[in-house]
Amino acid sequence: MKDSFFSGSFGGDLTRIAADTRLECKICWWVYDPAHGDETRQIGPGTAFAALPWDWSCPTCSGSKDDFMVLEKE
Ligand SMILES: [Zn+2]
Repeated sequence: MKDSFFSGSFGGDLTRIAADTRLECKICWWVYDPAHGDETRQIGPGTAFAALPWDWSCPTCSGSKDDFMVLEKE
């Protein structure tokens, strides 16, 4: 059950996240793109998701990093 429901989640496993991996908030669908960073929290462009501060959270819904799912490459 866990595998099916959380199949897209990185589940806290940062090894699944590359420097250019984009992740989508599963609560509000906001996408973190390392190429752009997060202006809201003064995260500069080029910052990998894995390198975000431990207390970083979604800028629109305040969801935690665990609430983000890995987006497949286009
Ligand atoms: Zn969100």
